[in-house]
Amino acid sequence: MLMNKNHEKELLENTVKRFVEEELYPHEETVDKNGEVPLELGRQIEKKSKDLGLFAANLPIEVGGGGLDYESMLLIEREYGKTSHALHAWAARPTEILLACNEEQKKRYLDPCVTGEKRELFALTEPEAGSDIMSMKTHAKKDGNDWILNGSKHFISGPVMPDFAIVFASTGEDETPRGKRKRITAFLVDVGENGFEIGIGTKCVSYRGYHAFRLNFSDVRLGPNQILGEEGKGLELSGKWLGMGRIWVGASCCGKAERLFELAKDWASTRKQFGQPIGKFQATGFKLADIAIELRAADLMVNDAVRRANEGKMSDADAAMVKVYCSEMLNRAADNTLQLYGGMGLMEELPIQRLWRDSRLERIWDGTSEIQRHIITRSILRPLGA
Ligand SMILES: Cc1cc2nc3c(=O)[nH]c(=O)nc-3n(C[C@H](O)[C@H](O)[C@H](O)COP(=O)(O)OP(=O)(O)OC[C@H]3O[C@@H](n4cnc5c(N)ncnc54)[C@H](O)[C@@H]3O)c2cc1C
Repeated sequence: MLMNKNHEKELLENTVKRFVEEELYPHEETVDKNGEVPLELGRQIEKKSKDLGLFAANLPIEVGGGGLDYESMLLIEREYGKTSHALHAWAARPTEILLACNEEQKKRYLDPCVTGEKRELFALTEPEAGSDIMSMKTHAKKDGNDWILNGSKHFISGPVMPDFAIVFASTGEDETPRGKRKRITAFLVDVGENGFEIGIGTKCVSYRGYHAFRLNFSDVRLGPNQILGEEGKGLELSGKWLGMGRIWVGASCCGKAERLFELAKDWASTRKQFGQPIGKFQATGFKLADIAIELRAADLMVNDAVRRANEGKMSDADAAMVKVYCSEMLNRAADNTLQLYGGMGLMEELPIQRLWRDSRLERIWDGTSEIQRHIITRSILRPLGA
């Protein structure tokens, strides 16, 4: 970790490190094998994180959150990155989009998320609308003052069955200079509403135990106060927080790469072949050097992005660069570490194969590497009129 830390930040980093190592690491293997975090364990993690002041640490003090600044959140996300989402997600960081709640919505949705009484999902992706989010089919039609919601979402992830979902749906079309464009609106939809079905979808081999839910909406009637923010402004609302989300993915990738690096160093210096530690062969030793170089570069990028965010200067392209570089750096680190371990790297009794599987998701969620590169290219070409 490269930041110049004051005493408070050092204390925070040590607290999170201890929390991750003592409360989360011991459960990784069983959770991965069983594909489930037992409710009791989830509640225990939740309680411990509350005791330590880590629960909802990302939200402002005015709404009851921890009010931590970006540098502090970076320390937290980097440490959490070392372990599984299935576990650290219980120490919730409710989505900042909920800060758009009006007074009545705050009481029903934001406040209970801050206290841990309720859990939310962020539901954008659909079976036929992944990267191409504007092709979403989920729609809501006006009926008097109400809205009638129809459609489906998949890959909507969370640690436990949620209480409500923030659902993005089309509520019409706007004419723009580039042709027609869907109006996307964010709705707050309670689990249990008539016509809203939710279940655990296909199992993912990354972060086993972190569920990807499938949501179906069939004529779900929603009152006018179920709109989050303004009608037609759903994407602008989520876009406000998307960039920082990608920086946190970057931070988390650095954490996991550091854990892999420790494991790689350990094996390279102790496993002997041809009478010497395998790290002494240039072909294996250079893998360690590559991991070290790229991890340093990734940490610098994340720190730089946080500085830019603090100055209000972080662009979409900055966040995209962090997401691409850090997630791909992590995948190279995971692959190199596994190669260093040889056959043992693929054996279930060691964590390498799990960290390798977990790493793979980072290049896909929160926007794939290809989509991030598209954002970067656009930022280069648009000012040139191309
Ligand atoms: C475990 C898990 C958890 C998730 N959690 C959530 C969640 O909580 N909420 C949520 O809304 N979503 C969530 N997602 C969805 C995730 O954001 C999408 O999977 C991701 O955006 C990619 O969409 P897709 O899987 O449909 O792939 P597709 O969009 O079908 O893409 C397939 C391939 O084509 C490439 N491609 C597509 N378009 C282009 C293009 N224009 N140029 C170049 N290449 C392109 C992609 O990069 C990819 O390699 C989750 C996904 C997973 C796997």
